[in-house]
Amino acid sequence: MNMEKSRLLFEKSKNFIPGGVNSPVRAYKSVGMTPPFIKSAKGSRIIDMDENEYIDYVGSWGPMILGHAHPEVVEEIKKACEDGTSYGAPTHKELILAEMIINAVPSVEMVRMVSSGTEAVMSSVRVARGFTGRDKILKFEGCYHGHSDGLLAKAGSGALTTGVPDSAGVPSDYVKNTIIAEYNNFDELENVFKSHANELAAVIVEPVAGNMGVVLPEKGFLELIRELTLKHGVVLIFDEVITGFRVSYGGAQGHFGIAPDMTVFGKIVGGGMPVGAYGGRKDIISMVSPVGPVYQAGTLSGNPVAMAAGIKTLEILRDNQCIYKKIEENAKELEKSFLDASRKFGIPLKVNRMGSLLSAFFTVENVVDLRTAMTCDVGRFRSYFQNMLQSGIYIAPSQFEAIFVSNAHEKEDITKTINAVNYAFSRLQQ
Ligand code: PMP
Repeated sequence: MNMEKSRLLFEKSKNFIPGGVNSPVRAYKSVGMTPPFIKSAKGSRIIDMDENEYIDYVGSWGPMILGHAHPEVVEEIKKACEDGTSYGAPTHKELILAEMIINAVPSVEMVRMVSSGTEAVMSSVRVARGFTGRDKILKFEGCYHGHSDGLLAKAGSGALTTGVPDSAGVPSDYVKNTIIAEYNNFDELENVFKSHANELAAVIVEPVAGNMGVVLPEKGFLELIRELTLKHGVVLIFDEVITGFRVSYGGAQGHFGIAPDMTVFGKIVGGGMPVGAYGGRKDIISMVSPVGPVYQAGTLSGNPVAMAAGIKTLEILRDNQCIYKKIEENAKELEKSFLDASRKFGIPLKVNRMGSLLSAFFTVENVVDLRTAMTCDVGRFRSYFQNMLQSGIYIAPSQFEAIFVSNAHEKEDITKTINAVNYAFSRLQQ
């Protein structure tokens, strides 16, 4: 595969942009390759500067559930641009998108738009603290909630410890109020509440984890979180940046039938434009300025072009819910092909799937939390990834990410992908 143009652009970019990229995982560091520099994308396909065409299962890390450059979404974006790209003033489009989110997700009674998932999570935590007058938050190991200081924390030694910074530049004071527990660990969760219930402002959780690879909540885990948070007046925040409008039109909470107090959205809700949103109970969201005392603002918040893309994307999903069935069926086929190839070629593998999201983990252990995710053979993932890319299949360059199936993936794409999986696994055997 010729990647000369990408290679040259990458080398040059490294002089001017840290690592040559504007978000770290794009640098392909862990897979030891040059990342394809993308020229364009349409439907299920993405094309690089050397004209290599790939079937794309990254989908911009989730937003492109309808596929790239969906004609109706593009049309709305064009129309919005012609009317001016930013006003810094209220618009009808913001109201329309807010109402669409509220109608889709019953636990959300009021919503505020921002420009990224990071910003939405950061703001939601501030609101929860303002509402409860408490400082501590509980997050789970392996869940990613954007890169704001207080959430860039990993577990210190042993369970129930306060977080330690996960990044240089984060003062330990900033994470001293972040408590970390293992995902799916019922005992640890109860213990955190035993020792800290009255200090906790919020529990934040990905209702289906997508950032240690796809990890499903065990039966009763989300229910226990809901029960304990309700009992102790702690705000429950579901981070549905990945799962919102993906696991179902009503998100993961719609699927599991659990209503959090606050929800964070991103990705799909902006139809591929930079958008985040946080919403929830009216009494909680009413804490936000100018109604309440919690300050949060944004020059480009509710941007009209982004709103137009979000509205059209949600409209299509709302009016064609058969999309969810189709993308799940295709994801199921991929899941089956991974398991078949694993058996056929004797490669240990576990597959986790929720609807159109899946991860194939190169391990013998069931992946239920970060510890079990870390048992994966990342060297094996790396060879598998390289062979998939060579076969024209574009997946995330990390073992700990999801495969995102979109509505633009057709049978032909799935068949080609299954052939590529078999080829990649046959090479792993050697
Ligand atoms: N929360 C979750 C669950 C995410 O997956 C992400 C990003 N992948 C974020 C928050 C942060 O969103 P953004 O990258 O838009 O800041």
